[in-house]
Amino acid sequence: MHISIWDSPRYITSPDTTYADTLAALKRFADAGVRRVLVYKAYLADLDAYLNAARDAGVAVEIWMHPERMIKNVPMRVLTDAQKRAMRENLDIELLFPCPNHPEYRRQLVALAKSLLDQYGDRIAGLHLDYLRSANFICCFYYPCGCEACRAERKRYFGFEMPSEEDLKQPWYIYKETARLNAHITATIADIHRLTHDAGRNLSMAARCDYINSPDIFARPVWGLGPATLEGQDWAEWSDAGIIDEIIPMNYHPILANFTDNLKAHLRILEGSKAKFTSGLASLSSMGPIPIADFRDRLQAIQDAGVSSACVFSSRDLTGEEYLQAIRDFAQT
Ligand SMILES: [Zn+2]
Repeated sequence: MHISIWDSPRYITSPDTTYADTLAALKRFADAGVRRVLVYKAYLADLDAYLNAARDAGVAVEIWMHPERMIKNVPMRVLTDAQKRAMRENLDIELLFPCPNHPEYRRQLVALAKSLLDQYGDRIAGLHLDYLRSANFICCFYYPCGCEACRAERKRYFGFEMPSEEDLKQPWYIYKETARLNAHITATIADIHRLTHDAGRNLSMAARCDYINSPDIFARPVWGLGPATLEGQDWAEWSDAGIIDEIIPMNYHPILANFTDNLKAHLRILEGSKAKFTSGLASLSSMGPIPIADFRDRLQAIQDAGVSSACVFSSRDLTGEEYLQAIRDFAQT
């Protein structure tokens, strides 16, 4: 099995020790059979030193892009104080998030991809897109963005800038709000894919595990795991259109039966599609820890499903030797 990891390099103790710290960590990963890391650029002060260490450890690198943390002056969703107050009262959260409908979002994210490829293109295997979507559907749909771009588009399509409570229930409104969000994010990813394609580099993405109707959603925390399609991340259509090279759903469910159901759904949705499928799995995520025996069960389920590529996430450094041993065992199969 080809095994990658999402690498948030918290093991780097200071920018000055980036090379030494990274080389030590990536050598351990490489010894366990890890062949690629998706490195969280937002945490990294010295990407040059990181890439030198990865080269010397023999591990391929894709740069993990996070729009909110990597775009300067990212256009955020615009909410009134009343909307924020209502969101807090009704959903117990005040969710702030970039607005992917704003033209600056697309322009700046594409420019960032271009600058990364210009600067590091000959030293990386590709770019990796995270959070290429809007935030949780309930927060975004019921507390609509009032930025000038959203207002102008609604004015064109509907004749009003902001919906009433009644409008929010109408099929025509639900359809067009969701469709225009999908259209903007799809255009952004198509632009980035043109760049990676021309540079001969891979474009992979961390995908929402729930494409459209997964039953796995763990009591559906309102700020949590939304269906991809309602958040503007229609990765099945992106795969068919050939604008993404590799899809890695973040399948972190702590219950094995749900993990396996999700895996089957991903295979069904992507059957015959153009993008490569890599199954994500976690040792630790916001959904909870995956004990080592359960971690092995997930690798086994991936292997049993005939999937030859997996990517491991941990919300802390993946340093536990038993997890590396499990990776080693499956990397050799
Ligand atoms: Zn907006």
